[in-house]
Amino acid sequence: MGTGYTLQCRKCGYEISADLGVGFFFPRAYQQAMKAGRAGKLGKKIKQFLREHPDGALDVENVFLQCPECGMLEKGPDLSMYVRNPDVPRREKGIWSVAAPFEDVDYVSPMELKEEQTYTLYAPGHICEKCGKPMKSITDNELMRSRFDKEKETDRTEVSCPECGDLLWIAEIGMWD
Ligand SMILES: [Zn+2]
Ligand SMILES: [Zn+2]
Repeated sequence: MGTGYTLQCRKCGYEISADLGVGFFFPRAYQQAMKAGRAGKLGKKIKQFLREHPDGALDVENVFLQCPECGMLEKGPDLSMYVRNPDVPRREKGIWSVAAPFEDVDYVSPMELKEEQTYTLYAPGHICEKCGKPMKSITDNELMRSRFDKEKETDRTEVSCPECGDLLWIAEIGMWD
């Protein structure tokens, strides 16, 4: 359900690998992230956010994260914080996957956070340590889209190399559960 990427710079040889997207066990991963967030393991800001917004949600999709200012590139869960819009009724949650019916586990999917009207972005999950700018998330979907959009150089991404600024290429791609 997720995609593994190795991005590579053809100019200087810089390389970064990550499993992006959400896995088969996403509902469980969501619960673990919320628990860690409430316990303060994901930083003070998230702990405080979840205390002040008991029905707040976190985007736990695995992404690449890049600083728009200095180009620093990292990987990890997005961790953007979202608040629920009070006038949108809570809807019945379907099961995550027919093969993994975690019926008793509540979760909020990244798609629900970004594509529906139920949630509003409250704060970005990552701030560049050097520049203090919010880090931009680069998702599996975005990498896939740029891959299918272009006629030539299909594996060239729009992610710049943190070392030399050249655009990175997809050197390897695979699936993960
Ligand atoms: Zn920066
Ligand atoms: Zn480079």
